[in-house]
Amino acid sequence: MAELRITDVRKAYDRIQALSGVDLTVRSGTLVAVLGPSGAGKTTLLRCIAGFETPDAGEIRIDGRRVATRGASVPPERRRIAVVPQEGALFPHLSVLGNVTYGLGRSARRAGRAATVLELVGLAGFEGRMPHHLSGGQQQRVAVARALAPHPPVVLLDEPFNALDAALRAELRRDVRQALRADGATAVLVTHDQAEALSVAEEIAVMRDGRIVQSGPPELLYREPADPWVAGFV
Ligand code: ATP
Repeated sequence: MAELRITDVRKAYDRIQALSGVDLTVRSGTLVAVLGPSGAGKTTLLRCIAGFETPDAGEIRIDGRRVATRGASVPPERRRIAVVPQEGALFPHLSVLGNVTYGLGRSARRAGRAATVLELVGLAGFEGRMPHHLSGGQQQRVAVARALAPHPPVVLLDEPFNALDAALRAELRRDVRQALRADGATAVLVTHDQAEALSVAEEIAVMRDGRIVQSGPPELLYREPADPWVAGFV
C-alpha cells in the first residue's frame, strides 16, 4: 500500500486529447472510484498509472517516488501495480492456486498468502478448481485475490463487475470493497456506473473530458454535485 499522487497528467493520441491535466491523490489504504462517461479518459488514466502509457506532461508519484513524467516512465514490471480487468484475467490452464501464486515467486510464505487472499474474497477451499469450472463472479474474485497477493503498492480495477448481472454485481462490490479494506490496499476503481461508485468507494473522482472535475466523499457529491452529469443522477 502506498500513496498515489497524480499531478497535471496529459496524454494525447494524434489529435485526441485523452487526458487534459489530471490531478488526483489517492491516500494510502483508500479506495477511490474514478467515475465518468464513456470517452472521459478513465482507461487512459489507468494505463498511465500502470505504466502502459507514458504521459506527455505532468507526473505520477507512488509513495513520493516519481514513476512517470513528461515522456519518461518507469516500466510496468518495476512499478508492480496490479490490474484487475473487466473479465478474462485468469490463466485458463492454471488452477485457482496457480493463478493466485503466479506472481509470488518462490517465497516460503506464498501458500499462506494465497490462503489469506482467497479467504478475503470468499473463496477459501477453491484452490484446486480450474477457472472454467467457476462462475463469472468467482473468476473475478480470483482475479482480485491474485491482484492483492503480492502486496502491490496500488491495485487498479477497470470496470471489474461489468460482465456480471445486477444481483451478483451488488454482492461482489460489497465483498471486493471489504477485501481491499481488510488488506489495506490503495486502490483505484474505474467505472461509468454511478451507483457502483457511490456504493463502493471512500472517495469519488468525477472525470469528464480528460479532467477530474470534482472529487470527494460520496456525501459531497450528493450534496453539492459540481457537474451536470453528476447532478443528473444524485
Ligand atoms: P470507456 O468508458 O468507453 O472505456 P474511457 O473513459 O475509459 O471510456 P478512454 O478509453 O481513456 O476513455 O478514451 C479517452 C479518449 O481517448 C477517447 O476519445 C478515445 O477514443 C481516445 N483513445 C483512447 N485510446 C486511444 C488510442 N490508443 N488511440 C487513439 N485514441 C485513443
